[in-house]
Amino acid sequence: MDLTGRVYAVSGGGSGIGRATVELLRSRGADVAALDRDRSRVEGVATACGALALVADVGDEEAVRAAFATLDERFGRLDGALSNAGIARVEGLLHTETAASWDEVIRVNLRGTFLFAREALARMVKGGRGSLVCTSSVVSTAAIGGGTNAYTASKGAITALVRQLAVDYGPMGIRINAVAPGATDTPLMWDTTPQDQVEPIRTIINGAVPMARLGSPLDVAHAVAWLLSDEAAYVTGAELLVDGGTNAKSTLPV
Ligand code: NAP
Repeated sequence: MDLTGRVYAVSGGGSGIGRATVELLRSRGADVAALDRDRSRVEGVATACGALALVADVGDEEAVRAAFATLDERFGRLDGALSNAGIARVEGLLHTETAASWDEVIRVNLRGTFLFAREALARMVKGGRGSLVCTSSVVSTAAIGGGTNAYTASKGAITALVRQLAVDYGPMGIRINAVAPGATDTPLMWDTTPQDQVEPIRTIINGAVPMARLGSPLDVAHAVAWLLSDEAAYVTGAELLVDGGTNAKSTLPV
């Protein structure tokens, strides 16, 4: 799928799924703006594949506006975007959770989606077409347990927001979809795992996922690139699971 001439923006583009998407879109000929909060990391990714690096905290309204202004100056158009920056915290049972930890996750995952999507959609409305993909998660439909309360709530909200946007922007030729990864081998996946637990947990996950392995960032990037492309021209309001069959599986033993 040749994407020459297309322009895309990717948040969380400095790592994991976002980085894989930036690299994949570039390899298909698109111009890409990679946005992340860590300057040296996102500049490293962008320099390596010829993308534009944008440094912003997605929860910061002015920073996101300024980043898109830089994108406008460089490319002057936007065909699609992946709203993907996110954080996960093991928050504990809800009755023990602090408001600070709740707010931190909601600020990045949900407010960040709003602010990034708002800028992207404004440009797609101007262009009269476009495709927005938002990274949700399998937890939007099936809870894993372990006290990721705000994280799960933020992902459910993202999937609901995607449906709202699909209905509102469909008549303008703009498609909005969610991609819902299962356990995917990125830094976020292992952030809160003690080093000596990584391999044992990897083995447990491999045993639980029907496809017998964790997802790779590229697995998700391929689904995103498809949703962003004209090949998905009649797909909007969908949540595309990229989870190796995880959410198709019942936990009942018989
Ligand atoms: P990742 O490798 O940690 O990448 C996420 C990137 O987003 C990081 O570079 C991170 O920077 C950045 N970021 C975080 N907060 C930000 C902010 N406020 N402003 C700008 N950038 C910010 O993790 P990933 O697994 O690729 O995650 C990408 C998305 O996939 C997330 O929305 C996540 O919830 C979702 N997801 C992941 C999995 C999984 O198993 N990995 C499963 C389902 C859904 P820092 O490193 O500085 O935080």
